[in-house]
Amino acid sequence: LRVRPLTCTETRRGDRRVVHSLGDGTVHVRATSPLGPGRGGSVSPPEPLPSRAQVSAARHDATFGFSAVFDAGASQEAVFEGSGMRQLVELAIDGFSCTVFAFGQTGSGKTYTLMGPLDQSETQPAAPGLLGLMQRSFACLLEQSQTRGSDLALSASYLEIYNEQVRDLLSPGPPCALPLRWSKTRGFYVENQLSVDFESLEAIAHLLLQALDTPPAGSQRRQTSAHALNRHSSRSHALLTIHVRSRAGGAEHHPPPTRIPQPSACPSKQGTLCFVDLAGSERVKETGSSGELSVEANNINRSLLALGHCISLLAKPRGKRTHIPYRDSKLTRLLARSLGGSGVTLMVACISPSSRCLSETLSTLHYASRARRVTTRP
Ligand code: ADP
Ligand code: MG
Repeated sequence: LRVRPLTCTETRRGDRRVVHSLGDGTVHVRATSPLGPGRGGSVSPPEPLPSRAQVSAARHDATFGFSAVFDAGASQEAVFEGSGMRQLVELAIDGFSCTVFAFGQTGSGKTYTLMGPLDQSETQPAAPGLLGLMQRSFACLLEQSQTRGSDLALSASYLEIYNEQVRDLLSPGPPCALPLRWSKTRGFYVENQLSVDFESLEAIAHLLLQALDTPPAGSQRRQTSAHALNRHSSRSHALLTIHVRSRAGGAEHHPPPTRIPQPSACPSKQGTLCFVDLAGSERVKETGSSGELSVEANNINRSLLALGHCISLLAKPRGKRTHIPYRDSKLTRLLARSLGGSGVTLMVACISPSSRCLSETLSTLHYASRARRVTTRP
């Protein structure tokens, strides 16, 4: 669980902090406060007596426990080291399918956690200390490929799910929808998906920043990219997958003198590391809007509700599990492997500490608590 600091706007407005980390992997959410500005900030009329609303709000007081809690002061590095992300990178090298999800309402810090601050570009890179889980994982992968003396081949694909359409963020030109298929051997996969080999940090960073640019290419690309990233990610789900093919290269270059290396002695392993920046969870409720927005909200609904549903079912004890409806949305189809069985998954729930976000925060915390009960068998 990551609790971001109050933003300048929230502080200026006089929002109260209602989320407090208790230090031992638990957080306490306080819905009512005896002192300080009210929930509506200075403009709201003070409540004269403990009203019914306050009494019912008091019921929201709750404590939640997680494997790790990072509060406002936690650095990007602390999140990388303390969340198990490094181990996940190592498992991907060992051939496992690994996935990191960031979820929470828009503005809760999902993209910040995965990629760092929004105002970075190729000409203005973020300060090293602010880089997110993605860049730190890339660095870790490249570092590991050196220390392990094994031959790692890295390639990346980058997709977004927008309006229940799968689009390739790496393909040049205007976005077009790609078909999602299923086969016995591969499970669900995206047809004609681009995959790009990369060998250096610069190359993958370049790839990321390029993919985040908006379609009309030209002089404005860079200026708009940060904005596009923000606007984009709150309406679509973005999935960056790093394919890690590793071959035990040591044996080839320095054959042991006593043994002839067998082909099976240096098997190749293929793992994946997938980063998922989910659409803002608050969109789930925005179904009252009309036209394009309503279609969008409904489609985000469909994916996030389907994901929530799969997670609830997966959280049941193994014997009591029924059919898991992965086919209900594109998102759950693409993530079937990470959710269901053979994968290792890290979920990072992101929340704002502000009193104004209370109901979204509680819903994220409940969602995260359910997700925590899911066990997989890699
Ligand atoms: P989301 O992707 O969930 O919509 P963002 O990652 O865009 O949210 O974060 C919203 C704003 O809060 C951004 O301006 C971001 O820089 C800032 N922010 C988020 N998390 C942190 C953090 N841990 N420390 C400092 N600023 C943060
Ligand atoms: Mg975002």
